[in-house]
Amino acid sequence: MRVQTFICLFLPTLAFAGKWYKGNTHVHTVLCGHADSTPEVVAQWYHDRGYNFLVLSEHNKFIDPSTVKLSGEVRDDFLLVPGEEITGKVHFTAMNISRLVPWQFKDRNRTRIMQNYVTETEKAGGTNILNHPLSGRFIQAHEVSPVKRLYMFELYNAHPTAKNFKGAHHPSTEQLWDALLDKGMTMWGVSCDDAHKLKKWGEKENNPGRGWVMVNSEELTSDAITKAMLRGDFYSTSGVMLVELVRGTNSIELSVNEDETACELASEFLFGRPVKKGEPGTTIEFIGPEGEVVKTVQGLSAKCEAKGAYLRAKVTHRVKKEDGSLREYYAWTQPVFTDGR
Ligand SMILES: [Zn+2]
Ligand SMILES: [Zn+2]
Repeated sequence: MRVQTFICLFLPTLAFAGKWYKGNTHVHTVLCGHADSTPEVVAQWYHDRGYNFLVLSEHNKFIDPSTVKLSGEVRDDFLLVPGEEITGKVHFTAMNISRLVPWQFKDRNRTRIMQNYVTETEKAGGTNILNHPLSGRFIQAHEVSPVKRLYMFELYNAHPTAKNFKGAHHPSTEQLWDALLDKGMTMWGVSCDDAHKLKKWGEKENNPGRGWVMVNSEELTSDAITKAMLRGDFYSTSGVMLVELVRGTNSIELSVNEDETACELASEFLFGRPVKKGEPGTTIEFIGPEGEVVKTVQGLSAKCEAKGAYLRAKVTHRVKKEDGSLREYYAWTQPVFTDGR
């Protein structure tokens, strides 16, 4: 299947000083041995579809962005952020690093493994994202919460076999998130592709273009994007785009951008999450401690004040497809904290 090459335009958003940049923090190349495209082809794909930044996060390999040559007219608002997927008993994206981060640290205790990854990544000048925490033997909140200086995890990983939503034998990544926030962590949720395949396309294939972040940053440099993400100045999406997002001192206000969302959902490589019930439409939920939904609004705009230690928002956009199936697409804001975190 040939993939469409349209690009959705992003409108400026109120209440943030910087610009919005679309990016993906997790993708693979032939260098890992089980993906099908070169670093050049992978970077070109994201470049040609309007992304502003990409982390080529190869398993235990550092791809120097200066060695990846794009072809044609190269946009000056496209950036390769140097990275790696540290791959051991736990997988961590290391982003904005200057060199390969060692992964060989062995320990039975996954907290110590994660702390080692954070420390080694810092030595290489970068920061981390805890990847697909529910893959394999799923990572539990009590293992993550003692880890110091870890601020991001994959809330949504679009790999077809990644677990994001609640299953019979595992919680959802959102439940893990709320547990970490309840334990006092400052933790931001990231959405990414973790794509390996660009040669064969389909819903069951591990293709790109299904999970990304929108980062509000002063400028498009690896440092600025990384710092903005560490401040929580971004939202995560599997298709829903926002036109307004205000993370106040103790409140969140947001509006969905209908046109941009429609444009993203028209993509041939975005399928959404199949669900069995529900009416088509847009729902905004505000979520506080212990994952309690404190306010639900049917519609495209909403505001809510925090009552507990934190507040975050989730937008669910449900669509009925021509074949009658229901599909959900999401946007997740980062939390605001009222307890001085
Ligand atoms: Zn991984
Ligand atoms: Zn990966």
